[in-house]
Amino acid sequence: MSDCVRNIAILGSTGSIGQSTLDVVAASNGRLRVVGLTANSRLVKLCEQATEFQPKWIVASNSDHASAFDWSSKPSDVELLLGPEGIASLVSRPEVDIVVAAIVGSAGLTGTWAALEAGKTVALANKETLVMAGPQVMRLARERNAKILPVDSEHSAVFQGLEAGARQDVKRIILTASGGPFRQHTRNQLAQVTVDEALAHPTWEMGPKITVDSATMMNKALEIIEARWLFDLEPDQIDVVVHPQSIVHSLVEFRDGSVVAQLSPPDMKLPIQYALTYPDRWDCPSPKLDLASAMSLDFEPPDLDRFPAIGLGHEVARAGGTAGAVLNAANEAAVAGFLEGQLSFIEIVPACRSVLENHQFDANPTLERLIELDTWARQEVTRWVCT
Ligand code: NDP
Ligand code: MG
Repeated sequence: MSDCVRNIAILGSTGSIGQSTLDVVAASNGRLRVVGLTANSRLVKLCEQATEFQPKWIVASNSDHASAFDWSSKPSDVELLLGPEGIASLVSRPEVDIVVAAIVGSAGLTGTWAALEAGKTVALANKETLVMAGPQVMRLARERNAKILPVDSEHSAVFQGLEAGARQDVKRIILTASGGPFRQHTRNQLAQVTVDEALAHPTWEMGPKITVDSATMMNKALEIIEARWLFDLEPDQIDVVVHPQSIVHSLVEFRDGSVVAQLSPPDMKLPIQYALTYPDRWDCPSPKLDLASAMSLDFEPPDLDRFPAIGLGHEVARAGGTAGAVLNAANEAAVAGFLEGQLSFIEIVPACRSVLENHQFDANPTLERLIELDTWARQEVTRWVCT
């Protein structure tokens, strides 16, 4: 595959990961070609992207937004598909080699599922897919001989670190966390956090949902669960360390005590590109690490009392079954409630725990059951907000 042009479809091209993926494509000297793009609400941007990158297909995933939109700026030779069915149809076309799963939240599950069902390589940014349905998704990938390559920077770092030794010699992985904007806040300060403060991440520029997840450290909880399924690790083999500079993206410790880390400045273009070029490495348009200038790299244990999400992540990774889907949906609804001013910052994690504790646990759920519980957990959070 190294000399061939790789045809990619980007699900969620108007978001932060989607736009960084297009930057990688633009810098690839034609070795990456966009054949499909999808958007939900930002349809003006979708048409601009279609004009610049000339895909064969674009998908407007929300039919209501699509029917209210004036499509006169869409290039006439680009075919418009609609709704989740349009996404499923796009990802299964023979012209698509790699699907970049960059839709936010559980809405990303169906497109990722359809891509794996069609045997495509998936560059997975949408961690919520694995949090919700890790065993089912990994089983499908195995059955269809489809690869899942991580885009999440920590998982890309672990993926690279794992190549340094044999699987049976891996002792544990250590996911790094920036600690978010409130790393040094007291409990009282956390209780006063505003939406604007939560949306100002110190090291990463990301979409609003994952930015709030980083501030509560729920993002790290979701990443523990993501790593558990993606790398088939025991939950106790997954540790978290706070590293405020976001230069070391994660580490793998082997049985002999060697620790292998991956380092680069905080910029998603590198892990995105590696997922698109694997196993090759190309020049990348991301900033480079300058070890000639002074810098310090700090590491500290996470404070599990001020950031209880991390403990919840380990509990859910151990429980498996329906727990991930419930946690994920409760968190999405709680974050939406916080962004709309209905829930305070420090209520997000307790709301998730309460919904999780009240759900009917099932150790071996079907995909349909997980989707039902996703809907149920969102309603439970709404009830929690109203009481
Ligand atoms: P954004 O909010 O910036 O973008 C989300 C994308 O999903 C947009 O293209 C949006 O379309 C689309 N979308 C939103 N809702 C729906 C829906 N219901 N159906 C279909 N499409 C929808 O998110 P990010 O790019 O930050 O994150 C994307 C994913 O990548 C998340 O799962 C996140 O956890 C993960 N990730 C992100 C990182 C980052 O640095 N941003 C790092 C690691 C992982 P539109 O804009 O048109 O409404
Ligand atoms: Mg990450």
